[in-house]
Amino acid sequence: MTKLNWGMIGGGKGSQIGPAHRMGAQADGNFVMAAGALDVDAERGRAFADTLGIASDRAYANWQDMLEGERTREDRVDLVTVATPNATHFEITKAFLEAGFNVLCEKPMTMTVEEGEEIVRVAEASGKICAVNYCYSAYPMVREMRHMVATGQIGKVRTIVANFSHGHHGDAGDADNPRVRWRYDPAMAGVSGQFADCGIHALHMASFIAGDEVRTLSADFASTISSRELEDDAMVNFRMEGGTVGRLWTSSVAIGRQHGFDIQVFGETGGLRWASEQPNQVFYTPVGGRTQIMEKGEGGLSDEAQRLSRVAIAHPEGFPLAVANIYVDLAAKIRGEAHGDFPVAADGLRSMAAVHQAVASAKADGAWVDARPPMFR
Ligand code: NAD
Repeated sequence: MTKLNWGMIGGGKGSQIGPAHRMGAQADGNFVMAAGALDVDAERGRAFADTLGIASDRAYANWQDMLEGERTREDRVDLVTVATPNATHFEITKAFLEAGFNVLCEKPMTMTVEEGEEIVRVAEASGKICAVNYCYSAYPMVREMRHMVATGQIGKVRTIVANFSHGHHGDAGDADNPRVRWRYDPAMAGVSGQFADCGIHALHMASFIAGDEVRTLSADFASTISSRELEDDAMVNFRMEGGTVGRLWTSSVAIGRQHGFDIQVFGETGGLRWASEQPNQVFYTPVGGRTQIMEKGEGGLSDEAQRLSRVAIAHPEGFPLAVANIYVDLAAKIRGEAHGDFPVAADGLRSMAAVHQAVASAKADGAWVDARPPMFR
């Protein structure tokens, strides 16, 4: 099978998410890294591209050059990943979609709801893929939870409790470190700090597993380190379209919590629990019964969980392979082999609406607000 050509913008040397994309895209042999504008510093980006085996004429100084360079090539990239800081996602994603490229955009997809709606419209008009990297939804055991809910194995979902709370910005003495400070600076991060950074992963996960969307929310935001303008801790209560009650806590000052992403789903006949730090296990408790530990790779799991599991039972599969699962389905969709099961622009838009509405709610002392983007009301 011919490999697909893949390019990345951002994700340069030393970046946080770049390695997961490089490993994920290439893990299954579907994509070859053919082009990139990898760094805000053109020379550093080119030098890094060289170490990755990208041909020098496709190691671009910036995304605009990449757009022009790739546009007219016969072997143009089949997929572009946008892994730059948040404020640049909108213009890069829009430009590549309009030029007829498939795009995988990092979260948050945009900075505003209006931009999010624009991306949804542009993606639809282009007929191209606009995926958003809510990669936690591609862990095999998360797919198992979604399958269990969809097939009624825990009954109607009553309540979801989701956390994405870590402690890595909990040191007040380090709050002025430039790598930390920008995340709480509205000029750089937008209207929200921790909720837009981590909380939206948990909110997307709740919708993904429940097979339902968030309709209303009420938020309490706090800047527990007083020099911060944006929140470093948030509690968001929500209600889903089908009536499910949601509780979401996200924090960056929860000292002692490391990655801190976990979710519990409580239905009428059973409960489920999953944590990103032990992603190969789901804890399942049927009503009136004992808690069982379900393991990735064991017999009896759904086809979907089996499909996305690569190595034998008890061998850890981690974050890069969850990202790889997104790329597997992108490749299948690009090749026309399958419809592709990955988060899309509409999911990115819903997150942006939730972020802006949570900010509005927090400012109004937790008033309940409509969490949906105007386009979907
Ligand atoms: P980072 O600061 O570690 O790295 C950003 C990279 O982009 C750097 O290499 C930088 O040189 C490059 N860059 C900046 N501006 C650029 C431009 N205009 N053109 C080309 N390259 C440019 O950031 P990060 O933590 O890797 O985050 C990048 C994005 O990924 C953010 O939007 C973040 O929210 C997202 N992210 C997602 C996840 C996830 O789980 N899906 C995890 C971490 C980060």
